[in-house]
Amino acid sequence: MSKNTRTILKVGITGGIGSGKTTVCKVFEALGIPVYYADWHARQLMVNAPRLVAGVKELFGPDAYLEDGALNRPYIAEKVFNNDKKLQQLNHLVHPAVAEDAGRWHSAQENVPYTLKEAALLFESGNFKQLDKVITVFAPEKLRIQRVMERDQVSRKEVRARMAKQMPEEEKLKRADFVVYNDGSHSLVRQVWDIHRELIEK
Ligand code: ATP
Repeated sequence: MSKNTRTILKVGITGGIGSGKTTVCKVFEALGIPVYYADWHARQLMVNAPRLVAGVKELFGPDAYLEDGALNRPYIAEKVFNNDKKLQQLNHLVHPAVAEDAGRWHSAQENVPYTLKEAALLFESGNFKQLDKVITVFAPEKLRIQRVMERDQVSRKEVRARMAKQMPEEEKLKRADFVVYNDGSHSLVRQVWDIHRELIEK
C-alpha cells in the first residue's frame, strides 16, 4: 500500500499544567492514534540534535552540559529563573527544533487518520500554525493544582508559579477546535470518542 501522508491530519493537544493532556492522550493511543509528546522529545533533542546543542552552548556557555553530555538542568534552570529574555531565547532555539522533528515524525506515519502532538505551550510557541486542528484539555484551576501537587510532590506556590508562565485557559478555549472537559464530571472516554469520530470523518 502506498504511503499517503498528505491525507493524515495533524492535530495538536494542549492545556494548562495538570489539565490532563497526557491522560487524554492515553485514551487516543488506546484508539490507535500515534502521539508525539513534545516535552519528552524536546528533552531528547537538547542532548542529541547537534545544531540545538551548539545553540544551547552558545547561549549558556559550555557549563550547559555535563562531561557525559547530559544537560546540566539545574544550571540552565538557574540561568532562566527570573530572566525572561534568556527563557525566550532558549524557547526560540527549542521550539523550531521540536517543530521540525515533529514534522519528520508525522511524515513517517502510515495508515492512520490523524496524528496527535501533545504540547503545553502549543499556542505560546506558535507551533499551532503547523497543525490542522487543536484540542484543548480543560480542568478547573483548583483541581489542576491539587493534581500536580500530588503527582510531582510540589507546593501550591510552585504550581502557581508554573501556571503564571502559561497562557490563560480562557484564551486556549477560545482558540481550540475541540475541548475536552477533564473536571471529574464529564466522561473522558466519551469525549475522546466523539472527537475521534469527527476527525475520522474529516
Ligand atoms: P503537565 O502539563 O504537567 O504535563 P498534563 O496536562 O499532562 O500535565 P496529566 O499528567 O495527564 O496532566 O494529569 C495530571 C495529574 O492528574 C496526573 O497525576 C493524572 O494521573 C491526574 N489526572 C488527570 N486526569 C484525571 C482524572 N480525570 N481523574 C483523576 N486523576 C486525573
